[in-house]
Amino acid sequence: MSEKIKISEAPEGHAGPGFFATSLDSVVGLARKNSIWPLPFATSCCGIEFMSTMSSHYDLARFGSERLSFSPRQADLLMVMGTIAKKMGPVLRQVYEQMAEPKWVIAVGACASSGGIFDTYSVLQGIDRIIPVDVYVPGCPPRPEQIIEGVMRIQDLIGKESVRRRNSKEYQQLMEEYLVK
Ligand code: SF4
Repeated sequence: MSEKIKISEAPEGHAGPGFFATSLDSVVGLARKNSIWPLPFATSCCGIEFMSTMSSHYDLARFGSERLSFSPRQADLLMVMGTIAKKMGPVLRQVYEQMAEPKWVIAVGACASSGGIFDTYSVLQGIDRIIPVDVYVPGCPPRPEQIIEGVMRIQDLIGKESVRRRNSKEYQQLMEEYLVK
């Protein structure tokens, strides 16, 4: 095998001749975190930074995330990039609801995270007012390196998430708080 090809590190476990034992959480986490299918919900300038992040120079494909999905049902990472007007809020929520579990959300840039410079009646002051957010990427706009950092933080979360989390009472409660169906 070429030395240039890197493979993911094996999870912690017990190895012996002809066997390797580890936890189900570790194996599922390893598979999930290296095969994220992002749905780019880009409404303005931060989306342009994301285009750069996807391009050959920054190459998000290195993280197993090159397969963008514009269909919510085939995506597990919602990346919200840009100013979200209040009128757009119900659309964003519907996209989130259409994504199958397990799913994660990154708010990319100041607008998605907090409304940014648009402290005005028509702009949603952060998408976490309508959907739960896992990682916030600061900046106006964030550089591609920051967006990659956000994806890596999501990978950390995904890799450590228990397969039981989505059925837990705490998670159900979180969804109820956001009135997510
Ligand atoms: S955070 Fe800045 S760069 Fe990003 S969408 Fe808002 S105004 Fe544009």
